[in-house]
Amino acid sequence: MALISINLKDGTLDSGSAIIIGIDLGTTNSLVAYMKNGQAVCVKDEGGKNALVPSVIHFAENGTVVVGDAAKAKLITDPGNTIYSVKRLMGKSYADLSAIQGLLGYKILDDDTESLVKIRVNARYYTPIQLSAEILKSLKIRIEKELRAPVSQAVITVPAYFNDNQRQATRDAGKLAGLDVLRIVNEPTAAALAYGIGLDTTKAEVIAVYDLGGGTFDISILQIQDGIFEVLSTNGDTFLGGDDFDSAIVSFFCDQLNIGAEILTEDKSLGQEIRLHAEMAKKALSRSEKFEGKIGNQVVRITRAEFETLITPLVQKTLDCCANALRDAKLAADKIDKIVMVGGSTRVPLVNKSVADYFGKPVFDSLDPDEVVALGAAIQADILAGNQKDLLLLDIAPLSLGIETVGGLMDVIIPRNSKVPTKAGRQYTTSVDGQKNLKIAVYQGERDLVENNRKLGEFILSGIPPMPAGLPKIDIQFIINADGILNVRARELRSGVEQETDIRPTFGITEEEMAAMLLDSISHAQEDMQARGLLEARNEANHLLQAGAKFLEQNDGILSPEEKKKTKALLLALEDACGLTDKDQIQRAIETLNTYTAPLAHRAMDETIQAAMQGKKVS
Ligand code: AMP
Repeated sequence: MALISINLKDGTLDSGSAIIIGIDLGTTNSLVAYMKNGQAVCVKDEGGKNALVPSVIHFAENGTVVVGDAAKAKLITDPGNTIYSVKRLMGKSYADLSAIQGLLGYKILDDDTESLVKIRVNARYYTPIQLSAEILKSLKIRIEKELRAPVSQAVITVPAYFNDNQRQATRDAGKLAGLDVLRIVNEPTAAALAYGIGLDTTKAEVIAVYDLGGGTFDISILQIQDGIFEVLSTNGDTFLGGDDFDSAIVSFFCDQLNIGAEILTEDKSLGQEIRLHAEMAKKALSRSEKFEGKIGNQVVRITRAEFETLITPLVQKTLDCCANALRDAKLAADKIDKIVMVGGSTRVPLVNKSVADYFGKPVFDSLDPDEVVALGAAIQADILAGNQKDLLLLDIAPLSLGIETVGGLMDVIIPRNSKVPTKAGRQYTTSVDGQKNLKIAVYQGERDLVENNRKLGEFILSGIPPMPAGLPKIDIQFIINADGILNVRARELRSGVEQETDIRPTFGITEEEMAAMLLDSISHAQEDMQARGLLEARNEANHLLQAGAKFLEQNDGILSPEEKKKTKALLLALEDACGLTDKDQIQRAIETLNTYTAPLAHRAMDETIQAAMQGKKVS
């Protein structure tokens, strides 16, 4: 097994000298970095000042897409077509997001709580993967301008707590942006690498990475040994950050101006001005002892001591999260060897001091806290490119491994470039009532449809006891041992029936063939994405058609003839849309059906419950 790098221009194998870029794909801002004369640097904007690209995307009526500062400006003038915080949606289903939907200014579709979220802009549907790909494309363009050369390979960072789905979604976004994602790296690992922590493979240490950004707080405890970073625990608050510091100052200024907080919503431009002054004050207080500004013709003032009193409870909250993380890692604060500071809000002196006091030692804060993750990603990229010769490169799986799911889709279980040995698994279920057998077909490759990948083998899990569709819990585990043998195990958890097989994934395939497969996946990313979207929409529609037929049958006595007729017509319309190849049309038909039937379903449920209750009283 080896790392394969390919030249996307001509499809040849690269010798390892190509530039691999490092990307910090953030919730609020994203950055791109690379190694320049042996030093990691972030690429700045054309003025040479700012390395941060706001993770905001704006869609104009005419279909033009802009990313970054220009898109951020549209948050106020055209909020419905301006998307932000996409990272919060990556790899999530609508059910996962019910808590935050109200906080976003754009429309998330809620047609099926099980499936992955989609966002509607100008009557088109976008997945978070497509939206993230837009951000990545703009970063790719930014670095290509700087280097005056095309780039095609990247390392992208993700939070340590990201699950398989979220990591896979990030890889897919890279692919869609025309980038071969050689590795997904944990953000705290990248931050440590930026300080050179972990590069000395003879040293074992435990570190804490404290990451306080604009809207989120993460604390991660990592153990580093033999160049391997292991996440011992993570904790944090997905809605705590510098924005809360700003809000505290906004209230303070409102008191000073003798205005009630309700005016902020009533007078948007005044609200915006106070908010801007609050952030200005906060930043100024990182350097100076006091701030004075003018809002309209009134003066506002705040001292650092006053600011610190305001934010003490918020800072304490982050320390409570640190305590939780240490408890989970079963470590005392003084057992942490190094503390790395990440995120713009760690510039606040009280934050820096409180964290140093808490852990009982000075923190690592000499690098720009906004850039540190991207810089570390560039260093990881450099290691992968083979430019840091003394560092050990672990064996990796050169192509993704997965199984075929409904509609011929590839479901990746072990992503390409995973370290070997490795183990990963996922749970599946049946799609037909009483299904006794399940075929498990194992594939290798990067394409979304299995027909374009390489089949490694298949077997049948038989003897599943008859159960309604969706009830069996079938756990599929992929284990690759140190010799590169893949063991696939399927087990129905309710009954215990199981079956397994051994496969050697690299048997009968050359490095050139693997490179060709990778190249194919990138050149077909757009078309694969569309095919996947269509298949997923059809799967969703088929599911609804079945459920709809059942609903009509079971509630025959509850629905009026009118309602039955209309529901049938909408089901038929959905069936017709399914026969077409326009995913958006299927989505619209699903939405119309759901909107019409949701109140009927509620009523049917209420009546059924009432009938059951009455039944109880009688007996
Ligand atoms: P990030 O999400 O890591 O980019 O962090 C952005 C947050 O850092 C925002 O809330 C900024 O207001 C805050 N920030 C940036 N610079 C400073 C500074 N000098 N002092 C205090 N907070 C800052």
